[in-house]
Amino acid sequence: MEIYDLIIIGAGPAGLTAGIYASRARLKTLILEKLYPGGHAASTSLVENYPGFTEGVSGPQLMELFAKQAQKFGCEIKSEEVLSLELRDDKKIVRTASGEYSAKSVIIASGSSPNLLGVSGEEKFKGRGLSFCATCDAPLFKGKTVAVVGGGDAAVEEALQLTKFAQKVILIHRRDTLRAVKILQERVFAEKKIEVLLGSVVTALEGDKRIESIRVRDVVTSQERRIPVNGVFLHIGYTPSTEFIKFPLERDNVGALVTDANCQTSVAGVFAAGDVRSKLLRQIVTAAADGAIAAFAAERYISEVRT
Ligand code: NAP
Repeated sequence: MEIYDLIIIGAGPAGLTAGIYASRARLKTLILEKLYPGGHAASTSLVENYPGFTEGVSGPQLMELFAKQAQKFGCEIKSEEVLSLELRDDKKIVRTASGEYSAKSVIIASGSSPNLLGVSGEEKFKGRGLSFCATCDAPLFKGKTVAVVGGGDAAVEEALQLTKFAQKVILIHRRDTLRAVKILQERVFAEKKIEVLLGSVVTALEGDKRIESIRVRDVVTSQERRIPVNGVFLHIGYTPSTEFIKFPLERDNVGALVTDANCQTSVAGVFAAGDVRSKLLRQIVTAAADGAIAAFAAERYISEVRT
């Protein structure tokens, strides 16, 4: 079994930044990623709030730079899905479909997966009109009508992105005010192609082979109506991806991992960084900061355990 100083689970901005710092500290470091490096950030068309890029930068481009930088310092990145993380004596054992790895310490940077509404039609229409990524799927809706569900930054950004292709975008939010940052709200309300439907919830996705309409209920009057749409983009938040962790770790009310200020979880040598960690602000810049802190703390932990 290969033994590493540090295994990082997840190659989003948190994991990749941890990889940069750990490799520069000359820790033998492996990042395991089930898809491709970049996480959610890699499916963001334009990142406008990462410092240093005055005109913005494409998410895939930024994440490619993160990955290259980590590899430049000797960090290994493998495309393998982590099936389990276990503790064996003072070692952390990570199992993938290809085998087992052992590490002195682990950074969990596994991010989160998109939430579903729990209404009829969701399973049936995944990939048949139901999407979670405008950057990936917006061109499929050229000249069509689409609904975006949610009121946070992601929903509002995706609605704006979709206007480049769709002829009409209906942004549906359950409350009477959006949650997204004000600058994005200003753009949404100024965009003629976007209709904002507040105080409304989607109760069903309908259609034959693909989505043809949605049912929407007004939360005040409880009246329901059918709205014809060709696609639905769901952005109603995320759930931390932690199902592979096979031992108890302290979590918050949504299942995110609770850490101290040094990204240390409730188990020594196990750190958490990025969206999987319990915190107020989930951004690329805060994920990167977590990654740096976690790698530094892991290096300390390893040197203290050795002595
Ligand atoms: P979010 O900020 O948690 O917003 C989720 C939205 O979905 C909220 O408006 C919420 O409504 C709504 N919602 C939740 N459950 C729902 C349900 N069952 N039915 C209907 N609506 C529901 O999530 P997010 O927008 O995906 O963003 C996640 C994190 O990434 C945030 O920290 C965000 O700031 C960050 N992010 C940042 C950027 C950026 O900086 N440009 C871009 C994307 C994401 P309520 O408002 O009523 O709770």
